[in-house]
Amino acid sequence: MSNEKVIHPVLIIGAGPAGMTAAIYLARANTKVKIVDKYAPGGKMNITQLVENYPGVTNITGPDLAFKMFEQVRDLGIEIEYADVNKIKKEENHFVVESDEETIYAKAVIVATGTQERKLKIPGEAKYTGRGVSYCAVCDGNLYKNDAIVIIGGGNSAIEEAVFVAKIVKKIHIVHRNENFRADESLMEELRNSPNVEFHLNSIPVEVFGDQNGVTSILIKNIENGSEEKLDVKGVFPFVGSDAVTDFLSEFDVRDDKGFVLVDQEMMTSVPGLYSIGDVNKKVLRQIVTATNDGAIAALAANRYIKRK
Ligand code: NAP
Repeated sequence: MSNEKVIHPVLIIGAGPAGMTAAIYLARANTKVKIVDKYAPGGKMNITQLVENYPGVTNITGPDLAFKMFEQVRDLGIEIEYADVNKIKKEENHFVVESDEETIYAKAVIVATGTQERKLKIPGEAKYTGRGVSYCAVCDGNLYKNDAIVIIGGGNSAIEEAVFVAKIVKKIHIVHRNENFRADESLMEELRNSPNVEFHLNSIPVEVFGDQNGVTSILIKNIENGSEEKLDVKGVFPFVGSDAVTDFLSEFDVRDDKGFVLVDQEMMTSVPGLYSIGDVNKKVLRQIVTATNDGAIAALAANRYIKRK
């Protein structure tokens, strides 16, 4: 077997909508591109019930849109490898990308790793994860048809999931640490019109309780008056934001204080040849359409970069 080092023209880390778009644009420009992702292609689209704001498609389920993008990637012959990237370094004029599977060399790297759900970090959360605590109400809501559940958070993720599961479960408690919601008003209106929703505002979760069968209740605390209340629930769904998946970028000074990647208009970081796209970037709007936008820009910029070298 040859030990010759293969240097890929462009490596994309992450196969969500941003990464798959970048790959499609590069392949169509006749540039050989490889994608690595630790999960199935699609990213968060795979856990999105319905997409109704992607132009040209009135409505489509998240997994269906993910599969359509994947088909396009596959039909262009783009290589996808399943691996968890844990470090990137730059050596001379190429990058060295270390994963749990292999070391990959590339002239340009496009980071498209998205975000990961933030944990509540309260007692009982880890213990009952998978036994009542879940980070995808759309996936697991059906398990609680005859039960009460709690959704924690006030952003678009929390309220979108709540609107969906309100139609399935017996009762939903919304626990939000604030009085105002970040979620879009149209979603809030839909949720307020659901008959089985009870709001607990200015309240935070304190501890999740359970038995051998899973979650039985959650203790919440009103941060205005200090009062505590135990809610009998079988499901606990935290949606308290997400953190950028960027630990593997620790060799470079390309992130803000929250871990989101900083890029220029061409999606390039301060490191020449290192691009970043999609939800992992510091940006004002995280949507499928903004992810695909980033992917197209980075692909063409990375293509110009490798041709110049
Ligand atoms: P988010 O907008 O950051 O909202 C997180 C929510 O969790 C906030 O209401 C926050 O409360 C609360 N929170 C944070 N830390 C907490 C803690 N430790 N304990 C209790 N509550 C806590 O996150 P997201 O909803 O995941 O959305 C992320 C991004 O994706 C946003 O830009 C969002 O618009 C976008 N997104 C869009 C859609 C859509 O357009 N359909 C769907 C999903 C997500 P405070 O409000 O008090 O800070």
